[in-house]
Amino acid sequence: MITLQDVSKRYSRLNAVSGINWNVQEGEWWGVIGPNGSGKSTLLHLLSGVETPSNGSIKLDDREVSSYSRKELARIVAVLQQEGLAPTDFTVREVIEMGRYPFQDWLGREKNDSGPLLDRIIRKLELESLESRRLDQLSGGQRQRAALGKVMAQEPTILLLDEPTTYLDIRYQLQFMNMVAEWRNEAGITVISVLHDLNLASQFCDRLLVLKDGEIAGEGVPSELLTEDFIRHVFRVDPAVVMHPENGAPQVLLTANRGT
Ligand code: ADP
Ligand code: MG
Repeated sequence: MITLQDVSKRYSRLNAVSGINWNVQEGEWWGVIGPNGSGKSTLLHLLSGVETPSNGSIKLDDREVSSYSRKELARIVAVLQQEGLAPTDFTVREVIEMGRYPFQDWLGREKNDSGPLLDRIIRKLELESLESRRLDQLSGGQRQRAALGKVMAQEPTILLLDEPTTYLDIRYQLQFMNMVAEWRNEAGITVISVLHDLNLASQFCDRLLVLKDGEIAGEGVPSELLTEDFIRHVFRVDPAVVMHPENGAPQVLLTANRGT
């Protein structure tokens, strides 16, 4: 459903990504990993139509991304960033309702009442007690849950996440990932997530795309891809990779250099 052919993006003289060939099937959950500056965010910007490729073709459902109008694209693709929502004085319910904009006319009206959908999302994300609270009165983890609610209200078929758990503590990281997993299982959406946490990527993603210096350094299922040698090569650290005792997923352990 997403096909990239020889895609490059150049900023003045720097190739942020180059020569990307990549196929994403409907319903897959991909993790995009790689060092800082390897082109992960650029790749998501190209998929969401925020940036246009300098070279190559990006197709969604056999149509070039650039041929979609903004509103058309917003009915298919939703994007959530590190800090999905700024701490404004809108309430949780108001911002979740803003997710409906691709379905509203120019007066902000929608054909069908979105109330029941918003109620369902608020219940699913356990935001009932917070729905009238202003965003600037929430913790980072609560605000990121509201941000997830907004993209759920958008009812996309493709969800793009750019380091969505960076500012969350471990409980909220796990909660966030589980909520995405549940949504994906129920709605069959396709998820592409840039993740720094290789251990979460290993457990949640079906497949990983690894970028290094703007190029694909590898792709495949976590259990085959995440080896000590490969991680050393891509990230330039010397890790120990062990199997998760409960599910067998490769888990990456870092070793402190304590000078002994
Ligand atoms: P990542 O998300 O993997 O950290 P990015 O995609 O943000 O990497 O950046 C890849 C490279 O492209 C970096 O060298 C970055 O400085 C450069 N870059 C990203 N966006 C721009 C931009 N708008 N203008 C110029 N250079 C950019
Ligand atoms: Mg980035």
